[in-house]
Amino acid sequence: MAESAVRIGVLLPDILGTYSDGGNAQVLRRRLQWRGIAASVTETRHGEAVPCSLDLYLLGGGEDDAQALAAADLHGHPGLQRAVTRGAVVFGVCAGLQVLGMTFTTPDTVSHRGLGLLDVVSAPGRRRAVGEIVVDVQPELTAQPLTGFENHLGRTLVGPGSWPLGSVRAGVGNGDGTEGAGTGRVLATYLHGPVLARNPALADRLLEWVLGTPPAPLALPEVDALRDERLRAATRGPHW
Ligand code: GLN
Repeated sequence: MAESAVRIGVLLPDILGTYSDGGNAQVLRRRLQWRGIAASVTETRHGEAVPCSLDLYLLGGGEDDAQALAAADLHGHPGLQRAVTRGAVVFGVCAGLQVLGMTFTTPDTVSHRGLGLLDVVSAPGRRRAVGEIVVDVQPELTAQPLTGFENHLGRTLVGPGSWPLGSVRAGVGNGDGTEGAGTGRVLATYLHGPVLARNPALADRLLEWVLGTPPAPLALPEVDALRDERLRAATRGPHW
């Protein structure tokens, strides 16, 4: 592996990573390789020390119990928190979003301490949000809307220390019309897909933060076709 290889970390894939969220790491690695940039993917399992020297960390979705376990484990192995203080990029999905926040409450009414890397608080809503979701994101993030699917009970309130990624065109997201959250280079969303497969512009934004320069454009007509098809499906009506 070249010295300049981009080091991608997948955190707790054994307990977080519903709906193939681990695919986000594969997407990032392939998009780097297609541009001739070496990349490594390191998986850190439950109970293992989290390395603090990686460039980009990924957290996936998970069940409520797994999510509580993940938060406790990441408090006990604070490599991610250390990496963020030196500017590492972090991308969380669903349970990952909630774990990165200040607190999250599980349906048994227990409040859990999050990692405090995003100024968000999550608690159960009245019914599960399940279905396709489309988000109009801040233009600094991507020029195109995000597409994905969601399956979560939690609702998320974004505080002044974070900004929502965008506003929901179809679906539920955070529950108040906004979706996801970001602070600096820590981003999180409710979207599965894997979301970086369905939204290559977002994948490239994360890579730009790591590389310090926008990566060369890639033409993938099959991804454009999938996006068009999913955007049409999402606007056909509610799905839950
Ligand atoms: N357990 C969380 C919730 O239901 C997250 C679910 C998920 O990651 N898909 O809100």
